[in-house]
Amino acid sequence: MNKIYLDYNATTPVDKRVFESMKPFLNEEYFNPSSAYESSQNIKDIIEDSRKTIADFIGASKSEIIFTSGGTESINHAIKGIAFAHQEKGKHIITSSIEHHAVLSTCKFLKKFGFKITYIPVDNLGIVKLDMLEKAIRKDTILISIMSANNEIGTIQPIKEIQDIAQKNNILYHTDAVQLTGKIPYNVKDLKVDLLSLSGHKFYCPKGIGVLYIKKGTHLYPLIHGGQQEKRKRAGTENVAGIAAIAKGVEIAKDEMQEEKKTIFSLKEQLKKNIIEKIPDISFNGHPSKSLYNTLNVSFKYIEGESILTLLDFEGILVSTGSACNSDSLEASHVLLATGIEKVDAHGSIRFSLGKYNTKEEIDKVSDMLPDIIKKLRKMSPLKRD
Ligand code: PLP
Repeated sequence: MNKIYLDYNATTPVDKRVFESMKPFLNEEYFNPSSAYESSQNIKDIIEDSRKTIADFIGASKSEIIFTSGGTESINHAIKGIAFAHQEKGKHIITSSIEHHAVLSTCKFLKKFGFKITYIPVDNLGIVKLDMLEKAIRKDTILISIMSANNEIGTIQPIKEIQDIAQKNNILYHTDAVQLTGKIPYNVKDLKVDLLSLSGHKFYCPKGIGVLYIKKGTHLYPLIHGGQQEKRKRAGTENVAGIAAIAKGVEIAKDEMQEEKKTIFSLKEQLKKNIIEKIPDISFNGHPSKSLYNTLNVSFKYIEGESILTLLDFEGILVSTGSACNSDSLEASHVLLATGIEKVDAHGSIRFSLGKYNTKEEIDKVSDMLPDIIKKLRKMSPLKRD
């Protein structure tokens, strides 16, 4: 059975052109970039060319880019690196209540070292409350880490306003741009952020490659110690194939992002319209406009998201309840709860996240199957009263 994949916020298939770009570095050009012979020079050049491509894509300078193993590492590096390097100044960090676990667990870990964390709440559409952010700032606040776009509900945060608040108070700002990158163009110099994390596998590159942008002059400790790679900022033999891949990935994104946006958005709107027309007792989560164009988070009343996911899976349709990283747990999504929706509605939510390989036929098929699945589950559900 051909699967219908509607879980692009969890991960994406590798674009064939990206796959081709990696291949030489897995066998023929396998040399360690740190080796002294001529053959390694070419590998070093590939890494530096890729760094330039990424830097250009986000409006940074080459020296502000380091390669990591993905979003989680970049985020850990940014938050722990700043925390430990600036703890003399203060031990207070501000984040939001809807961050990815990469941020939340890192902050939780830092509490063991005496850091204090403030979690800024969001409104019912998932936007961080800026007045609460201003009020939360203390003399000992060293870092604000608030995401650019949420993986579950798609809400895009007012990054510039957050940075203004950070700058006014002389506080560093890191943003988790894992979901934004490759979907919406941005320029770090316009956003004025100090640190930014991104990950390849969210935009048609392989898993295990990411980038941390560190604004020139920002002092932070490395996360991984060892050799002298990445100008001593991130030790470990470089993932050359991954680095070549992410550079190809951003080249493709740069050329094709705008066109993809139109197609993906219209497919999402089609799905939304069909759901509204065919299924009663539903509500949408997240911001209606300040949102990732590919993400549709829906609460289906009286039933569990897990049962919907399972029945869709039987039909070869792959979606998510909450974020992919906690789909093993039956805890209601912390993101949905933070927007103030009832626990029972959070449990009945499904995230559809679309990508460039989805087609109108697939959306038609999902729109045809979904109403029957929901009807069937509601018939069996003890939650439905009438
Ligand atoms: N941040 C967000 C918003 C994400 O969606 C994810 C992945 O789901 C991550 C961070 C972690 O990125 P990675 O899977 O590359 O470690």
